[in-house]
Amino acid sequence: RQQGPRLHPKLLELYEMTDRVLGVGTFATVKEIKLKSSGQSFALKIILKKTLQGRGAMLDTEIAVLSKVRHMNCVSLLEMFETEDAVYLVTDLAAGGELFDRLLAKGYYTEGDAARLVREILLGVEYLHSMEIVHRDLKPENLLFHDKSENARLMITDFGLSKILTSGNDVLMTACGTPGYVAPEVLEQIGHGKPVDMWSVGVIAYTLLCGYTPFWGENQPALFENIMAGEYHYEDEYWKDISPLAKHFIDTLLVRPAEKRSTAIQALSHPWFRAMLDQDMSAP
Ligand code: ADP
Ligand code: MG
Repeated sequence: RQQGPRLHPKLLELYEMTDRVLGVGTFATVKEIKLKSSGQSFALKIILKKTLQGRGAMLDTEIAVLSKVRHMNCVSLLEMFETEDAVYLVTDLAAGGELFDRLLAKGYYTEGDAARLVREILLGVEYLHSMEIVHRDLKPENLLFHDKSENARLMITDFGLSKILTSGNDVLMTACGTPGYVAPEVLEQIGHGKPVDMWSVGVIAYTLLCGYTPFWGENQPALFENIMAGEYHYEDEYWKDISPLAKHFIDTLLVRPAEKRSTAIQALSHPWFRAMLDQDMSAP
């Protein structure tokens, strides 16, 4: 069995470790910890330095930016500890689990619920973009619910770090899970600005509404081919009861070239959200 890294003494002084693993991502293992002074739970994200591959120097500046993030729909980074072999990030605990798992359990979301979730994601993205932070890896595994309740708010995690943890093509090679959320210009290695996140929001919205991703392939090269071709459809069997507004919303995001894609602010003012809100209020 592989031995874990030695923990930071200050971390151990302030926090009590628990055995609870909250999740394992592409680069990190995340465990629940408790602040000794209050008993409050937090998440500890452990990144082994060998996965940083010499980009560790970027970490300090990047962490300084990320630790300023305070928003309802973003997981806050509270503290960082560093040892010879690992970086430890203390963040808010999002106890409600991944959007990925809830979607899997449900199959798909109703339009009203999907609109509520997409709007929360957009509020978080708009805030991050206003701080000049581009996520670059938005997908249902990186969207966590604040708590276990049905209408828990959704929080974005894992933002900003992709810049340090991956370089260029690594994103695709090292990322486990499906790279189906990635924008065509990332695959073509010609861009990784804010529009990259907007494409992913489009893929997420599509996926929430029907339960499958818009781009698909037998294998990774075939998938990438399909993303770059940018062709997707609304198969009647799954989409016939979904409003034209929802489809129009998605169409403003799954757009090439990137300059023509809606920004977060533009997407937030799409009439789909208003329509869903009105419907909600007239419901019995
Ligand atoms: P990676 O950069 O390796 O992908 P993530 O930050 O995405 O790491 O974390 C991996 C997984 O751990 C997430 O998909 C989620 O299931 C869980 N996780 C991460 N952060 C938290 C948190 N703040 N609260 C609860 N679970 C978390
Ligand atoms: Mg992740």
